[in-house]
Amino acid sequence: MSEGKRLPRVELPADARIDTIAVREGLPATPWGENSEALFLTSSFVHPDAETAARRFANEEEAFVYSRFSNPTVMMMERRLAAMEGTEACIATSSGMAAIMLLFMGLLKAGDHVVCSQSVFGSTIKLLQGEFGKFGVESTFVSQTDVSAWRAAMRPNTKLLFAETPSNPLTEVCDIAALAEIAHAGGALLAVDNCFCSPALQQPAKLGADLIIHSGTKYLDGQGRVIAGAICASEALVNDKFVPVMRSAGMSLSPFNAWVVLKGLETLSIRMRAQSDKALQLARWLEAQPQVSTLYYPGLPSHPQHELAMRQQSGLGGAVVSFIVKGDTPEAARANAFAVIDATRICSITANLGDTKTTITHPASTSHGRLTEAQRQAAGITQGMIRVAVGLEDVEDLKADLARGLHKI
Ligand SMILES: *Cc1c(COP(=O)(O)O)cnc(C)c1O
Repeated sequence: MSEGKRLPRVELPADARIDTIAVREGLPATPWGENSEALFLTSSFVHPDAETAARRFANEEEAFVYSRFSNPTVMMMERRLAAMEGTEACIATSSGMAAIMLLFMGLLKAGDHVVCSQSVFGSTIKLLQGEFGKFGVESTFVSQTDVSAWRAAMRPNTKLLFAETPSNPLTEVCDIAALAEIAHAGGALLAVDNCFCSPALQQPAKLGADLIIHSGTKYLDGQGRVIAGAICASEALVNDKFVPVMRSAGMSLSPFNAWVVLKGLETLSIRMRAQSDKALQLARWLEAQPQVSTLYYPGLPSHPQHELAMRQQSGLGGAVVSFIVKGDTPEAARANAFAVIDATRICSITANLGDTKTTITHPASTSHGRLTEAQRQAAGITQGMIRVAVGLEDVEDLKADLARGLHKI
């Protein structure tokens, strides 16, 4: 496409900053001059004549053809998210997991090897080890925070390194720049799932990551309304590796969901900052409660990678706080965790996160419920653990909501 006719761009100053990009980047308005981005609910697009249609199908002219490959609303979201991540391009997908599937389908073949953090989202591990393992893709899972383990796992056939930082629910932080160096020295690419920080706090491409993965379901939408996903990368990777797979496999994002995410991006930065600030206040308070034995929050000096997190995450800890309530036995700890969760009246009991509504969950029996007790112990997900994804409520009300159950322990 590079030599052919391209679709127009919004004219923004070349040095426009992320908050400006978040509300302005996209496609130019239609001839009607709408100020808010239009929602194009159409499956196909009409061509003026057969000759033009032929050029567009031959990729000699960039145009909208069919919404499985491209749609103006989806493209606006892709351009805006790419610009915020600081990458040339982005491809939107129907979910975060569809983005990870597209990543693996586009980059890997039988006999290739992937090094992956053992602390990534559970479905990512199942997809890589189970589904792609079935097709002959090899994988090694290593400690999120042990850079030497990543280096030691590299093989001549390693094509991809995959990390997620901070991780869920332990908020382990990995050194993106160090992993990028290991990947590139071995002729591999580094993919970072940037779900927990979003580009408002962390831009992995600036630290050397080649591919940034998003679940748009989380902070990008930010209000728990849609399922969406995306990969941000260079134009070459997107056009050569992912667009062809999208065209034939069709894990496309619906224009409506793209529009919701597009509008969510406009407030991403203020939400992330406000929610991180409330999470920090809540984490400080929780750390001082006698019923809490351990607290995981990258924004506090007690976190083992606090300094790295502050460098990588614009000085903020993000909005997810996990903690362990005391209990003499695993059964007692589980009962205490359930008591805290059940005593809340404001927090939503749901495993989702990235919402303006604070959510609370017991990882050992929900998101990590399919693991054996031994696997959970190895992963550090104990029965007393509670994860809170802090929203926009008043933090004093959130403290009172958690204090109610904690005081019963
Ligand atoms: C939720 C999540 C995903 C999967 O996203 P979906 O939109 O639910 O498919 C992937 N990675 C992380 C870190 C997540 O939290």
